[in-house]
Formats: sequence, C-alpha cells, structure tokens
Amino acid sequence: MVRAMGLVGTNTRQRELGRGERVLPGLWRLRLPLPWPGVPHCNAWAIAAGSGVVLIDTGMHEPGSVAQLERALDQVNLRLEHVRLLACTHAHSDHWGQAATVIDRAGCEFLMHPNHAHGTRHVGDPDAALARRLEVGRQSGVPEAALAQYAEQARGIPSGVARVVEADRALVEGVEIETDLGTWVAYETPGHAPSHVCLFCAERRLLISGDHVLGRISLFYDYGYSPDPVGEFLASLDVIDALDARLALSGHGKPFVDVHGHIEGNRRLVAERLDAVVTAIRAEPLTAVQIVPHVYEEELSVRNASWFLAQTLCYLRHLEAGRRVRGERDDSGVTDRWRAV
Ligand SMILES: [Zn+2]
Ligand SMILES: [Zn+2]
Repeated sequence: MVRAMGLVGTNTRQRELGRGERVLPGLWRLRLPLPWPGVPHCNAWAIAAGSGVVLIDTGMHEPGSVAQLERALDQVNLRLEHVRLLACTHAHSDHWGQAATVIDRAGCEFLMHPNHAHGTRHVGDPDAALARRLEVGRQSGVPEAALAQYAEQARGIPSGVARVVEADRALVEGVEIETDLGTWVAYETPGHAPSHVCLFCAERRLLISGDHVLGRISLFYDYGYSPDPVGEFLASLDVIDALDARLALSGHGKPFVDVHGHIEGNRRLVAERLDAVVTAIRAEPLTAVQIVPHVYEEELSVRNASWFLAQTLCYLRHLEAGRRVRGERDDSGVTDRWRAV
C-alpha cells in the first residue's frame, strides 16, 4: 500500500494497537496500526538471528508509532535493541517509515533497494511532488476546480517517514540474509513499487512477499517512476511463482498458503482491468479520467482520485507499450486522449 492511495481525513475510528504473535518458532508477525481507511494495519516480521533478530519492514512513522512497534515486540519478548539488521521490502511509508528510528535505537545495518526515489523524493520536497501530481491530473483531464480541492487537502499530509536514511547495503537480486531459520534470498519484484523486493527462504519455502502478493488481491502500482509498472508487475509474478513457496508472509493481512493461486488471481485481475480499458475506448477516444469509471465501479472523487487515476494510467502505459492503445494531446494542448489501436 502507499501513502498516495487517497486523501486521509481525520480518522475518528478506534485505532488498533500494535500486536505481536509467533508464526513459527523463531519468526514473529508484528501487526502495526495504520491511519488509512480500509487498510487498518501493516506487518513487520522479526526473524531470530543469533543473539538478536532480523527485522523486515517497520510500519509507518506517525505520533505514537514507535510505541506501537515496541508494544508488538514486547508481546513476543523482543525489544528494538535486539534488531541486528533491518531490511525493507520497499520504500512505501508503511514499510520503511520508521527505518531511521529503528536504526537510531538499534544501531543496526539497513538494507533497501536503491530504486527508492518513488518513496523518498516527496519526503524532501512535498511541494514538487504535489505539483507533479497536479500536472498528471491536468494531462488526465481532471477539472481545475477538482485539482484545487485536491491540492488543498493534500497539502500538509505528513509523509509517514521519520527521516530519509540511505541503506548500508543495496537489497538487490541475490543478496542473502542469514537467520536461524535459514538463508533468505532477495528477489527483485518491481511493479507495486520500483524498489520492491521479496525474500525467500528455500529451506522452508517461506516467502516474505511484501505488497507484491497479498492475501486479499489488491493491485497497486507506483505511477511515473518506470516506463511500464504493470509489465514489471506481471514479470515479477512469474519470478515469485517459480519459487513454489508454501507460505507467504505479506505486508498486510494474515500469512497465507496457496501462493500460486493468489498469483493466478492477480494475473486474472490485471487482464480484466486491461480489457476494461481497451473496451472503454473502442468507440471513441477518452481522457484517463473518463476511462476510470469503466475500470472501477466507483466514480472519481477527491478521496480516491490519485489512486484510481494512477492505476488507470499504468494500464494505459502498459497497453501503449504493447501497441494496443495510443495517447494524443487534444486541442486544449494540455490533456491526453486515448484511443484503441
Ligand atoms: Zn503496504
Ligand atoms: Zn506498498
């Protein structure tokens, strides 16, 4: 999941508390609360490693978030000071937002994939990131009044990141992390995010799947940081399918089996979305905004705008790469219209 999934209003519902539970001997799930409607929590994973633990992901940074992480660790008799190494599956705030805090407290080594600009650039310059998003909105046919409303609500939303920290080591293809359960090998799985990496422990066929494959199928791609996120995502599904994992430990929700079935479900939903886009523009060229209601049941609103629009643009880019659609600037000189080829 990602911060930019929508605008988050004041959240008055009862917040969950950080919770820790043992999944296997030497492997703990740390369930950490999130302030996002529809995504109540994310997971970090602690894995026994000698006298301490390896921590995978961190939860998001916000007021009280360190205490939630400490609470979850405490429930399984762990402390932040036990963390020997931190590895983050990708640079979305719910997965690496507290990295700086964990490193400060534990003095641990930190690993993350170097293609993290999608999750770090906006932290340093939120105004530029917003301006860029507004420009994409304009090109997609979002009316100026709606853009102004969006900008007003988006300004001042915290990044969810304590501080941008550089990795000590790049978490790229083939990097190995030693734990008491065995060796975990990194597999680059871009698509959901350019920095996404899954970790696989072949000895036990355990997969830390991050947000690449979730128990409940939910597609999200970062738009604008790579040429074809959907194409990358599909290729990354093949990479993970070939591992033949027995149990997936995902970034949200409970661990799940039938990893292959979940991967197939993702492929099917991507194909459905792509078909919906092509069908929408068969009769006449449309802007991305006009295509959205053909792909998603909900109409665009300030709340879901950046999410649905970014996803639809990703599908259009993928179809464009496959020469199934073509985008053209219309008479306004600002907005793109898409037609089926
Ligand atoms: Zn997430
Ligand atoms: Zn994510």
